[in-house]
Amino acid sequence: MPHKTKYIVVTGGVLSGLGKGIATASVGRLISSKLRVIPIKCDGYLNTDPGTMNPIEHGEVFVLDDGGEVDMDFGHYERFLGVVGKSDWNLTMGKVYSRILEKERRGDFLGKTVQLIPHVTDEIKAHFLKIAQEERADVVIIEIGGTVGDMENELFIEAVRQLGQDVGGSNIIYIHLTYVPIPSNVGEHKTKPTQQSVKLLNERGIRPDIIIARSPEPLPQKVKDKISLFCNIPAEAVISGEDVETVYEIPLMYDEQNLTELLHKKLGIYSPPKLEKWRKLVDAIKHPEREVNIAICGKYTDLRDSYASIIESLIHSGAHLSARVNIKWIETTEIENGKLTVEKALENISGVIVPGGFGVRGIEGKIDVIRYCRENDIPFLGICYGMQLAIIEFARNVCGLKGANTTEAESEGIEVAHPVICLLPSQKGLKKKGGTMRLGGQDVFLKKSTLANRLYKADKIRERFRHRYEVNPEFVEIFEKCGMVFSGYEPQENIMQVMELPEHSYFIAVQYHPELISKLEKPEPLFYNLVKYALAKSKV
Ligand code: GLN
Repeated sequence: MPHKTKYIVVTGGVLSGLGKGIATASVGRLISSKLRVIPIKCDGYLNTDPGTMNPIEHGEVFVLDDGGEVDMDFGHYERFLGVVGKSDWNLTMGKVYSRILEKERRGDFLGKTVQLIPHVTDEIKAHFLKIAQEERADVVIIEIGGTVGDMENELFIEAVRQLGQDVGGSNIIYIHLTYVPIPSNVGEHKTKPTQQSVKLLNERGIRPDIIIARSPEPLPQKVKDKISLFCNIPAEAVISGEDVETVYEIPLMYDEQNLTELLHKKLGIYSPPKLEKWRKLVDAIKHPEREVNIAICGKYTDLRDSYASIIESLIHSGAHLSARVNIKWIETTEIENGKLTVEKALENISGVIVPGGFGVRGIEGKIDVIRYCRENDIPFLGICYGMQLAIIEFARNVCGLKGANTTEAESEGIEVAHPVICLLPSQKGLKKKGGTMRLGGQDVFLKKSTLANRLYKADKIRERFRHRYEVNPEFVEIFEKCGMVFSGYEPQENIMQVMELPEHSYFIAVQYHPELISKLEKPEPLFYNLVKYALAKSKV
């Protein structure tokens, strides 16, 4: 007997960048207390996954425990729904087409003309049903990337229309996320773009059951009534999605407008949300007792989306410490080219993060920042590349290994005298770029009585990785002699996972990405303690 699954489809209209991923995650959160809610994200691009895209264009690449490199919306899904995502749940058009072409060559369609409809749409629908069954999902929530009317997502939209017919009206609802602007010259909510976007959806055979209207201000009842009239849906199904101080407020805002009851009624489900702890933490975010300045030093600092999970992790930690974390972005290329001094960059800063990254641009600036933190006892957290650069800094300035560097620099023509960071053995000889890094969740063993061991209160943890290079094992002894402690390790392959400097009050760097598993209700210890130690030093 197949498991009876309900479907919620979320489409977007008017413009991109409205926070559809967060809206989807928030809707899921409202009904996930008693039900297994599985998110699926459909992306219209032809890349297999976002792993090979530039984070400036596409935002952060989110890494799943199973090693999947997926859309950053999975960060919101995991943070709001508490699920551990799987790479299969991110369906790109690239994946769909490659499956279709594989099947065609195998002869699965012998004698037939392979067409967008039904073959591609069938493939998409079959994927939804497969996940629903495999996961024994009570509710599958499908987010279609982009906006209705984009050529790229037409086939996904057609597939979810057909899905409605296949599973029947009481088993599926469509939510449309739109925008209701308040032009400054008129000073009132304008619903026309929403009306037009719903029309586009209607033309594709989909009538939304619920409209969530993003807007700078709450929607007055008369605006809800107008949308109701023109878009042919009850006014109670028009939900105001006004701008809020923190995204964690969004499920609360939807719940206050009775969206939960509406979902229960429309889908015939019952799963009241558990939001007490969440509400308290949102309150702490909105009314902090203190504040602290933390710097993030990187080269993609122009686009905050590249570091989305790090920002969230700091918010989670701040909420538990009743502190507002003010993030200062430091573009390390400016330190490198002399436009900015480290002293100036770190003025009034009580804690520093050097995040992950690739290539040599900006790394000398990051190394200067790390040196300053080490020499001036500024709380420091290095993440992935940030750990590798902390090792390089230590090698050069403490161990006296002039010209120490990562062999990643060699590919850009830089001579490396001491390859203290080198390619992982498993990476040697790899030609293909997509999905070939050391990816996903791994167990990390923590040495007893180290800082990491104390912070995590555990001997073994599980964290997610995304890298090609590692600490060169040949140098480990020299580093240890000079006072560095490798407190986290991978016993079989001898990969150094955590390094710390015990002389320092808080100097810790990790090869994994702790930001990927932090949650509002359970902040990742490394961020929590960075904020805690920084608060102790803070003068703001
Ligand atoms: N470029 C480094 C590597 O491949 C670090 C990667 C990262 O920071 N994610 O190992």
